[in-house]
Amino acid sequence: MNILVINAGSSSLKYQLFDMDNETVLAKGICERIGIDGHLSHKPANGKPNYEADIAMPTHNEAIQAVLEKLVSDEYGVVKSMSEIDAVGHRVLHGGAKFTESCIVNDEVEQAIEDCIPLGPLHNPANLMGIRACKEVMPGTPQVAVFDTSFGMTMEPKVYIYAMPYEYYEKHDIRKYGFHGTSHRFVSQRMLELLGKPDAKVIVCHLGNGSSLSASVGGKCVDTSMGLTPLAGFPMGTRSGDVDAGVLEYVMEHYGYDIHEMLTILNKKSGVLGISGVSSDFRDLDNAAAEGNERAQLALDKFAYEVKKFLGSYVAALGGVDGIAFTAGVGENSPEMRENIVKGLDYMGIEIDSEKNKVRGKETDITGTNSKVKVFIVPTNEELMIARDTKELTAK
Ligand code: AMP
Repeated sequence: MNILVINAGSSSLKYQLFDMDNETVLAKGICERIGIDGHLSHKPANGKPNYEADIAMPTHNEAIQAVLEKLVSDEYGVVKSMSEIDAVGHRVLHGGAKFTESCIVNDEVEQAIEDCIPLGPLHNPANLMGIRACKEVMPGTPQVAVFDTSFGMTMEPKVYIYAMPYEYYEKHDIRKYGFHGTSHRFVSQRMLELLGKPDAKVIVCHLGNGSSLSASVGGKCVDTSMGLTPLAGFPMGTRSGDVDAGVLEYVMEHYGYDIHEMLTILNKKSGVLGISGVSSDFRDLDNAAAEGNERAQLALDKFAYEVKKFLGSYVAALGGVDGIAFTAGVGENSPEMRENIVKGLDYMGIEIDSEKNKVRGKETDITGTNSKVKVFIVPTNEELMIARDTKELTAK
């Protein structure tokens, strides 16, 4: 069974075609500059050459059309015809309170995703464009929506409610949802297998450009660090994470910003970029800190400190923990960051082995000899999770 996974942004569209009989990637690529001019980068995995060219893409329809042409073409293709693509799985950012799990797209689902646009104003319209383009270009092929927020829907009310007037929740669904849910779900499920314990208490540290932690029991989310929007939690590449809301009034008055300008600063100019003034990229920060840049070092220290604090609070929330996983760009590839986060948690029974921890980007048990808690690096694979959900919902 072949499944096409689509992650549509406002001007880009990433895709991967999976053979789900053995969970292998047949081809992947990205369309960029949709609505501007258009560029396709396509990589088949069967030894055929890569394709890279400007193609006119006034809308997502032309982008999907271009992708399908390449997937079936003699020169760059990996399947003979479109009929060999059995279903399409779409990443959708926000499913609001309605979607507790992935589902097959029908008119009602499409409408519900549209209704969630106020909750995900940057991503949901683009995700919908991807769904609608596929429906038009591949009529008859089942489409599945996989929501970033659905993992968080098992949180209890005391976890997800904001301590604000209750009517905001009642009337407008304002609550904590959490994001990176597909990654947290993939990694926490893998942790249950690695631990050999179906009801294990697991903390997943998804540390990338955007970052979040989740706490789960038996794969069901108990708490997660992001909120109504991905701005919450600890500092990220460019996002501030949690800040004292009183700071906003002060900065807005002092600099004359309106709320939109303020939020742009919190989303795009804060985090480790804001502190360091160097970069949002952790490799740049590592290099700058190594050359003696004190603010780059401060940004790295702040990040490790705040992640450690969330980690500790989740051990408390879960009443102990069986396994901790590090994933995403920084979590998978930065031994120094993993070491700094875990340092000093030995009293909680959490230790890592410095030698084993030297690994980058590979599933590895990095548990220290005296550690009561298992610690792993688990590379995330959101696309495969989407393909698995799509297969489960559409396989006859
Ligand atoms: P992601 O958003 O998951 O793609 O992660 C991107 C982040 O991972 C960027 O800030 C990269 O600098 C960081 N990253 C990737 N490789 C490394 C590495 N070897 N050491 C430190 N950070 C890394």
